[in-house]
Amino acid sequence: MITKLIRRILGTKDKPADATQPVVLTAKEHGIDPKLVSNNAIRVTSTLQQAGFKAFLVGGAVRDLLLGVKPKDFDIATNATPEQVKKLFRRAFIIGRRFQIVHVMFGQDLLEVTTFRGASAEDAPKDEHGRVLRDNTFGEQHEDAVRRDFTINAMYYDPATQTVLDYHGGMDDIRNRTLRIIGAPEARYREDPVRLLRVVRFAAKLDFTIAPDTRKPITVMAPLINNVPAARVFDEMLKLLLSGHALACLQQLRKEGLHHGLLPLLDVVLEQPLGEKFVRLALDATDERVRQGKPVSPGFLFASLLWHQVLEKWKAYQAAGEYPIPALHLAADDVLNAQTDKLALQRKIASDMRDIWAMQPRFERRTGKSPYKLLEHLRMRAGYDFLLLRCASGEIDREIGDWWTAFMDADGPGREELLAKKPQASKASGTAGASDDAAPAKKRRRRGGRKRSGGGNAGNGGSPAPAAE
Ligand code: ATP
Ligand code: MG
Repeated sequence: MITKLIRRILGTKDKPADATQPVVLTAKEHGIDPKLVSNNAIRVTSTLQQAGFKAFLVGGAVRDLLLGVKPKDFDIATNATPEQVKKLFRRAFIIGRRFQIVHVMFGQDLLEVTTFRGASAEDAPKDEHGRVLRDNTFGEQHEDAVRRDFTINAMYYDPATQTVLDYHGGMDDIRNRTLRIIGAPEARYREDPVRLLRVVRFAAKLDFTIAPDTRKPITVMAPLINNVPAARVFDEMLKLLLSGHALACLQQLRKEGLHHGLLPLLDVVLEQPLGEKFVRLALDATDERVRQGKPVSPGFLFASLLWHQVLEKWKAYQAAGEYPIPALHLAADDVLNAQTDKLALQRKIASDMRDIWAMQPRFERRTGKSPYKLLEHLRMRAGYDFLLLRCASGEIDREIGDWWTAFMDADGPGREELLAKKPQASKASGTAGASDDAAPAKKRRRRGGRKRSGGGNAGNGGSPAPAAE
């Protein structure tokens, strides 16, 4: 405690007196394995440095390197302006209107190069809740560091000298596995409430403890998320769900009381035993795919998260006298519309979700040509995976899933045999043999939400769409 205080006053190696002077950590002190740094990242930093600029790896990449994890991507920070960066690389594109950054491409590999941002101006335009709307000046490196969210995300690594510059005690926090926001927590959440979600994501993903000061205001400030543009919330939610720790993240969201404002669906879903089991299974499967490096389809993910809401409304519409298939489409419309206020689901994702949901009653028709037609559906694999989740969660009988597994595996005669076998009476969603195909087709067209978007990302196997800007 006392040594800490002395260090703070004197600004010794462990803690700078002010945050304008970083602690410089040598290779021996930080222990980064240079082999974990991609060659392309080194190409970018060394090109910039040879042209006389400062250039460092920054953010999540440095954090992951310090944790001994191979970073999934590399962000670079420099004092060169976007124009200056662009000139140095053959394939470099300035993107963003508000704050320009440069995408440098080597083949398929994309590196994001950002010019150091300046200190937040006091008079930067804000909304009525204090969220900063525009604040895009370039600045010094220490100013760039102070604008970053967490101490562990505000370190800079120079691959050439193998040194780490630590402005906010990030290294200590890495060692103590602590997530700590830079600056005054309330003010930082207020200026950008997305940070509330980021706390949860990093704490769950890294299995770090949230520092008490950083944690304390979260629950009270949670409603601020409602003022953030839906596309940004979606972007951050997608990162959370595709982090490989989706289940842990959602549990943490609940723990911090963040799920209420954010995902109305989770309020309901996680509180119903069947819904919770279904979501848990879906997220487990997603986490497993992410960890194995397999692609995950956001459509499948959101279809799973929202399914029990659809189910509830589907039943209600049927109880009110609608035919099963149109009732399902009405339920899907309701759920998707209610969701778009909070979370701007991209059209492609919403259309994948609809396809997956709409296929479900079709699995119950196991006679005649229907099953063959379903096999040709673009999203058959996704629909089938979804069906299996429904079986596994206890919503419908396992027998349906087993029948489809057998049908897909079987050859021609085997399939005919399965079709001839009278399906046992099973717990289904009450739509088996629905004979109202013509009517819903009309309704579907009228609502216009059934366009196939091509692409053929069957099953869980499509690559995630780029997050909304
Ligand atoms: P991941 O490994 O999940 O990509 P990351 O830390 O790299 O984690 P990004 O969203 O890629 O997260 O952001 C890169 C860096 O930009 C962060 O490490 C942080 O320094 C900074 N940053 C991103 N979002 C914010 C924010 N809302 N407020 C302040 N700084 C941010
Ligand atoms: Mg990143």
